[in-house]
Amino acid sequence: MAVPNTADIVIIGGGVMGASIAYHLALQGQKNILLLEKEDFFGQGATGRCAGGVRYQFSTEVNVRLSMHSLPMLERFEEETGQAIDYRKCGYLFYLTRPEDVALFQRNLYLQNNLGIPTNWLTGDEIRHRLPLMRLDDVLCGTFNAKDGVVDPNGVVMGYIHSAQRMGVTALTGLAVTGIRVSGGKIIGVETNGGQVSSPVVFDAAGPWAGLIGKMAGVDIPITPIRRQMFTTTPLAEIPPDFPFAIDFAQSLYFHREGLGLLVGMSNPEEQPGFDQNVDPDFELVNLEAAIARLPLLEKASLASHWAGLYEVTPDAHPIFGRTPVDGFYICAGFSGHGFMHGPVAGKIMAEILLDGEASTVDISMLDLARFEEGRLIREYNVV
Ligand SMILES: Cc1cc2nc3c(=O)[nH]c(=O)nc-3n(C[C@H](O)[C@H](O)[C@H](O)COP(=O)(O)OP(=O)(O)OC[C@H]3O[C@@H](n4cnc5c(N)ncnc54)[C@H](O)[C@@H]3O)c2cc1C
Repeated sequence: MAVPNTADIVIIGGGVMGASIAYHLALQGQKNILLLEKEDFFGQGATGRCAGGVRYQFSTEVNVRLSMHSLPMLERFEEETGQAIDYRKCGYLFYLTRPEDVALFQRNLYLQNNLGIPTNWLTGDEIRHRLPLMRLDDVLCGTFNAKDGVVDPNGVVMGYIHSAQRMGVTALTGLAVTGIRVSGGKIIGVETNGGQVSSPVVFDAAGPWAGLIGKMAGVDIPITPIRRQMFTTTPLAEIPPDFPFAIDFAQSLYFHREGLGLLVGMSNPEEQPGFDQNVDPDFELVNLEAAIARLPLLEKASLASHWAGLYEVTPDAHPIFGRTPVDGFYICAGFSGHGFMHGPVAGKIMAEILLDGEASTVDISMLDLARFEEGRLIREYNVV
């Protein structure tokens, strides 16, 4: 389909953010919305490569509140959009091995419980009892929330895209934005590989590429792409159906059931910023060794698949929502490796910011772009 010459709103990026923004704007009756995705399919960026984890367990109030709205939206998703997304509530179990993390997680538990989230504290013995297949002699304690779980990312993207299209949104693939037209400090349109589009409003929902889009508009958006990778295994009959999303916090090493096998991932602290999305075979070995040390059963499994994707990291590991110094240019990006789960509420919030002038669902005023220049950073420690 040819790119239209004009649009009331252009959304750049067809990942969970762009899809959710398009859906929520259309739901509010907005017309003439154009969503542009550079790849041949939607959801091929960070969203389609993510682990699908959704959780309430965060260390800052704003992240817990984003989850408190977003996860129930995922629970209602099929009813609302007609698209199944396989929300499996296996629970997230964070286990701790470093004494210095204990006080931090006690504080997190207090914060979450005070906000009404029933996260539980587990002793080391309780965790060893809960995960008998794992070697956890050094585990001190941890936290568990039974409502955390895993959701199908592509289902969420396509559910929003199809629902938005039914409401009249034009969502196109294979169209890369190559420039942003600004005049007198205002957005006047975008340039694409398929031609120019005039528009007074542009949303930057380009995930790890959001900083590049910002540059096109002359706006400095501090989002760094950092590669993360994972692998899945062939079936492991011993893994029980209630195996949780288990996270070794100190090693940033995680396991959850994927089909009849496991999905295993680990963050490489040495990873340098960049857009490379190929699997690093050397680090895959490091990941595998660390995983086998925790779960010796993995020695019996073979590799089923592996892939890498990009985290979109901001200096304080929190997203950037809202206006920019260029009139009509909005940003919704920088979720720093845990944005899939916040995609639903983020789209709703962006629709509120555009249509009502400010967000009402969650107070995200502290997550504006200006915080970086003004030194108002908010640290999130529960980054996996
Ligand atoms: C390995 C890995 C594991 C993760 N695990 C989890 C998890 O368990 N739970 C969780 O909540 N989050 C997780 N995340 C983070 C999550 O994937 C992201 O926070 C989220 O998907 C970001 O969504 P997005 O729409 O902003 O970005 P994306 O999904 O990357 O979408 C941006 C889109 O913009 C497009 N684009 C870029 N430039 C242009 C252009 N010039 N023109 C047109 N289109 C353009 C891209 O092709 C892309 O499709 C993980 C991420 C990775 C990489």
